Amino acid sequence: MPNRIQLLTEKVSNQIAAGEVIQRPASAVKELLENAIDAGATKINLIVKDAGRTLIQVIDNGCGMNGADAQLCFARHSTSKLSKFEDLALLQTKGFRGEALASIASIAQIELKTRTSEEEVGTLIELEGGVILSESVCSCAIGTSISVKNLFFNVPARRRFLKTDNSELKQIIDEFERLAIPHASIGFSLIHNDQVIYQLEPSNLKGRLLKIFGSNYDERLVPVQEHTDLVSLYGYIGKPAFTKKTRGEQFFFVNNRFIRSPYLNNAINLAFRELIPKENHPSYFIFFELDPAKIDINIHPTKTEVKFDDEQAIYAYLLSAVKMSLGKYNLTPLLDFSQDPVLAHVPVGPSNKIPSAPQVLVNTNFNPFEKQPGSYKREKEHIEEWGNLLNHIQAYQIPQPSPAIQPELVFNEDQQSSGQKVFQLHGQYILAQVKSGLLLIDQKGAYERILYEKFLSQAGEQNFGTQKILFPVELRLGAQDNLIAQGNLDLFQSFGVDILDKGNGLFSIEGMPSDCLDSGEKEIVESLLESIKQTETLDLNGRRTKLALALCQKGKIKYGTILNESEMRGLINQLFRCKQPSFSPDNRQIVVVLDLNQIATIISTIKK
Ligand code: ADP
Ligand code: MG
Repeated sequence: MPNRIQLLTEKVSNQIAAGEVIQRPASAVKELLENAIDAGATKINLIVKDAGRTLIQVIDNGCGMNGADAQLCFARHSTSKLSKFEDLALLQTKGFRGEALASIASIAQIELKTRTSEEEVGTLIELEGGVILSESVCSCAIGTSISVKNLFFNVPARRRFLKTDNSELKQIIDEFERLAIPHASIGFSLIHNDQVIYQLEPSNLKGRLLKIFGSNYDERLVPVQEHTDLVSLYGYIGKPAFTKKTRGEQFFFVNNRFIRSPYLNNAINLAFRELIPKENHPSYFIFFELDPAKIDINIHPTKTEVKFDDEQAIYAYLLSAVKMSLGKYNLTPLLDFSQDPVLAHVPVGPSNKIPSAPQVLVNTNFNPFEKQPGSYKREKEHIEEWGNLLNHIQAYQIPQPSPAIQPELVFNEDQQSSGQKVFQLHGQYILAQVKSGLLLIDQKGAYERILYEKFLSQAGEQNFGTQKILFPVELRLGAQDNLIAQGNLDLFQSFGVDILDKGNGLFSIEGMPSDCLDSGEKEIVESLLESIKQTETLDLNGRRTKLALALCQKGKIKYGTILNESEMRGLINQLFRCKQPSFSPDNRQIVVVLDLNQIATIISTIKK
């Protein structure tokens, strides 16, 4: 029997390593940018074509390589950053494994131009699939320019595995941000398909964050700081009032290296717990600096996980530092109740006592910028009381309006019509007398349902009502949001949201659907962008549905909106013309009919 075991060729083993290190264009971007940072560059340009599929080029003004090094850098385990195992513990550089360039080269076509300050001429090397095709001298600036073309050209399976350009580009931008944020003193640029996405001048941390996420972050961030023998911790957290539903801006850096840590993320969530709605996520940009000997960054091939020797102490420092900042900057909880339909979501156990009616459910003068200590808590109590009442009602297995019983619910909008009394309860519910008893409608949910179906059925139609805004509102967006907005202007337009791109991340909101006009244009557009972020992988139809859902929640009629009788009748009629009148678009039950027997039962079972 012939021997079966043989050593893998260098080419094959590089391709296998590439599978681990380079999963997608963004991984190559990360490695190349890290090399440029390690080379001491003060200026780094990243040029990408087709979301990195056809070209990723990084140009730096770092130390460059001489001819011999330029050849060697593509060999497996070639590194200038590590020579003995003990060095690993003291490492300050991003790279050290010496496998990134070998891996990338094995699955792409490469052109490298590089020159050190000691040399008059530079070196030009071309490779394909890890094989050197040519080597020559060339004239070039001090530093390195490396072009990676047609990544995965010889690994079709990988190529097929890539997602849409949008999604791959987003990941590239993510990697870019994760390096540009902790290296604020380095100038960075990012150009995609000839469009400038980022042009970041050297700055300090705050300046860099504002440039990346938009100047409106100036008022959203507060500093965090804590110095102990073990760790120096600093950075910024977003104020509770600006938390988002997407898990967007959450960054931990350990010795300037981006890491993920669900464990430390918990510490931050804990600090914010009482201050923000459950489904929201705080923003943070937190830096830990500690002795490299006390961490192990080597446990993950793409190096985004870290093992701390003393994880619990770091958790405790972080928690206390964040709490301290929240306290110090007096970030008492602020919550715009009118925009937060938590009412029907609050789970409340059955109770035997009648909840007393709350005095004021919604403060219509509410100003989210005024400090109102404890207001969130107070409102929560009211909500719980209402939740109790709702629970009582729902305990009776009330039949839902089916198409069969709808006709009796259709109202005459004429106010004179007798026998169909309607009544508004605390600006929250509409009560109406129907043949069998009492109809109860959640007014905001009902309006959401009506708008949702309207948006979906009429979007894009000629007469779909855009109302021009008298004084257009300016909106400045960070790079990611800028891209999303640019890519969806037509979609917004079809819903009546009219936005003008003025370039450089500046937009002007010129029109809004008339049904949403009074609801804060800026906030509406921001929440639309937010909902698109959550729908990245969906097709156009999926995005439309998500947008309709986000937009219908911004309608004019909210909790607390006082309606006159004909408005209430109009609302009820429109609701029952909907395809799905019983539920809000986000699936809350919004309609209940209590027949007279049920009302009698309620009255007799609820004891005072
Ligand atoms: P590592 O970064 O882990 O050392 P890489 O494969 O990424 O391994 O790079 C191999 C070597 O090539 C580096 O150690 C460095 O000496 C050299 N190198 C790579 N990129 C650059 C660059 N942009 N400027 C100068 N030297 C570079
Ligand atoms: Mg490297």
